[in-house]
Amino acid sequence: MNAKKLCLNAMQAWVESLIGKCRVIGVQAKGERFVFAPLTRARDLRLDYDVTLIPPKACFLPPQETLLTFTGPAGYRSVVDDEPFILLGVHPYDVAAIAQMDRLFEQDYADVHYLARRRGAVLIACDIQTASPNVFAGCMGTATADEGFDILLTRVGDHYLVDARTDAGKALTDSLASAPDADAVSLARREQLWLDNRKLLRKHDLKPSLAELPGLLERSYEHPVWKDKARHCFSCGSCVMVCPTCYCFDVQDEVDWDLKCGRRCRTWDGCMLKDFATVAGAHNFRKDKADRYRHRWYRKGKYVYDKIGQIACVGCGRCVTACVAGISNPVDVYNRLLEAP
Ligand code: SF4
Ligand code: SF4
Repeated sequence: MNAKKLCLNAMQAWVESLIGKCRVIGVQAKGERFVFAPLTRARDLRLDYDVTLIPPKACFLPPQETLLTFTGPAGYRSVVDDEPFILLGVHPYDVAAIAQMDRLFEQDYADVHYLARRRGAVLIACDIQTASPNVFAGCMGTATADEGFDILLTRVGDHYLVDARTDAGKALTDSLASAPDADAVSLARREQLWLDNRKLLRKHDLKPSLAELPGLLERSYEHPVWKDKARHCFSCGSCVMVCPTCYCFDVQDEVDWDLKCGRRCRTWDGCMLKDFATVAGAHNFRKDKADRYRHRWYRKGKYVYDKIGQIACVGCGRCVTACVAGISNPVDVYNRLLEAP
């Protein structure tokens, strides 16, 4: 099916019909910021948002979840949430981050909890209409997306283009069969928007190329930037919690009063938190702030690259905004590595 062209009223009616069919999680305003939250009315959807506070990874890897319950000698029961849902309004940099998490959660030990949610989700992406203050997706190749979603929505003037790319996406757009196909003028305007977004979504200008980053880090282990910046770090962990490509977690058992039954829970964890690397015997192998700070940037620019050939930063800018100490801008850090120590 060709991309369809919907006026704003038709778009709202289509979203309303989706809400009637399935659980929909869509972008909505929360005060002056934006969040992904259950959508109950199409008019609450805000596809003109700049960036959400928490990335949509929380829909697949919740901040807290029960992995299994146990009942003493009677055994255990896995808890797997595979209820289908539509994730509506995902920006291209978050599409890239979800695709990266898919690869990481599939390889080595496939994570059934993450993958069940992911397989039950239909992902509706949306081209960026409003640049957030710290976005640099244009530097990271994530200002636009050509895959990793089921449907792409693009606002072009006073209408939307609805472009279904997968069978799941086409199933959701069946009801639009009688809507007009996107015409050449609209498609040309969408192309122009993609060109503009790749050029304009660069609030910070990354100097090294993405291909250079792993090698640059390889040579920079003793660079003074780690200590210089980490001096100001509060170890609050905000930068990792808001990051769409950070996926570390902790797993703990909660045992009931009968000392037999309970549940195994996982919660988000992050390498910038003081006790992240504490092991048995209270040994912490990254007890200095500078070690934790350096680790974060190696993780983003080298370690994940070594695993899957991708940089683990999509340029959303959330960490830049979240860091009250003003030291969490990946562009500042990586540019500084080009300077002589
Ligand atoms: S490191 Fe910062 S800018 Fe990069 S993806 Fe994570 S939160 Fe976004
Ligand atoms: S948000 Fe800033 S202050 Fe907090 S842990 Fe990250 S770098 Fe440190």
